[in-house]
Amino acid sequence: MSSLFNKILEKENLNKEDLICLLNAKDNDRKLLFEKSAEIKQKYVGNKVYFRGLIEYSNICYKNCLYCGIRAGNKDLIHYTLSDEEVINAAKFAFENNYGSVVLQSGEIESSAFTEKIDKLIWEIKKLSDSKLGLTLSLGEQSEETYKQWFKSGAHRYLLRIETSNQELYSKIHPHNSKHSFEKRLVALNTLKRLGFQAGTGVMIGLPFQTIENLAEDLLFMKEFDIDMCGMGPYIEHKQTPLYEFRDKLLPLNERFDLSLKMIAVLRIVMKDINIASTTALQAIDPIGREKAIKIGANIIMPNITPGNNRDNYLLYENKPCTDEEVEDCKTCLEARLHFAGAEIGYGEWGDSKHFANKKD
Ligand code: SF4
Repeated sequence: MSSLFNKILEKENLNKEDLICLLNAKDNDRKLLFEKSAEIKQKYVGNKVYFRGLIEYSNICYKNCLYCGIRAGNKDLIHYTLSDEEVINAAKFAFENNYGSVVLQSGEIESSAFTEKIDKLIWEIKKLSDSKLGLTLSLGEQSEETYKQWFKSGAHRYLLRIETSNQELYSKIHPHNSKHSFEKRLVALNTLKRLGFQAGTGVMIGLPFQTIENLAEDLLFMKEFDIDMCGMGPYIEHKQTPLYEFRDKLLPLNERFDLSLKMIAVLRIVMKDINIASTTALQAIDPIGREKAIKIGANIIMPNITPGNNRDNYLLYENKPCTDEEVEDCKTCLEARLHFAGAEIGYGEWGDSKHFANKKD
């Protein structure tokens, strides 16, 4: 057992070097890290896992991020947008099955028609559940007016992943134009926070050109930005993307997975009372990947409730799991898995970020 490692685990404020040391943990140190993060999770956010039923509204995106399977430049993609009825039925399913919350996610579209469409759906979701369903949006960068309108209509959480907080790396994984500006993304994140949303972000782990230092900086970025929620997971390459060219620079999948678990554990230690999602990308590598993340620090799961025939077309990365399951099967399967992981499901609860509430007090 390394006493230096133990000293770091006991520190109140972790600096970049400490974070690098934690992310590099191996063998017994790795075990100690996971024990510590599990203990902190239990103490600050408890044993409950909250469901966010994920509705992938549309795979149309006007951006061209170099890593993403639904980028505008992917000409092999069959585009879809759910009908209002499909969205409402999915939300009804979530409500009737006590999911507590839904997430409305989509490729990035900025237009007044899109703003109004989403606004209408927010109202419908609130109406069908008598305002009892919590609502997270993950619809990319939008104008302040649009964010304001959606917040006023009842959306209260917003997830906007920065993907990497390192500007140089950001420029390697995005085209160089105003549509893909790092600064614009930061402004959007700040706006969401200022308007009163519970604001979430996240990063990809194991990108080509990414270093452990970059990941430590990502953790410091999240702390400094004072996020309320986080959704992060391993980078998984997609053949129909420009970044695929650099696949020989990648860590093996099992190492990307392990690094992702460590990122979740360290973030739980750094930001004790935030909500951390156990993302589907973890399950794409390890069949019980999401349950492993729940054990060591995550407390949110996003079961996919998009109508099954569209899920194959929302492949941000390859080998995305459960695209051929019906929502009922997905629910039963998750219940069993979480039970196995020793977690309790917070049925019918919003499970809002405790960090957000604690900041207000
Ligand atoms: S990552 Fe998001 S914004 Fe970028 S291409 Fe994919 S869906 Fe569009």
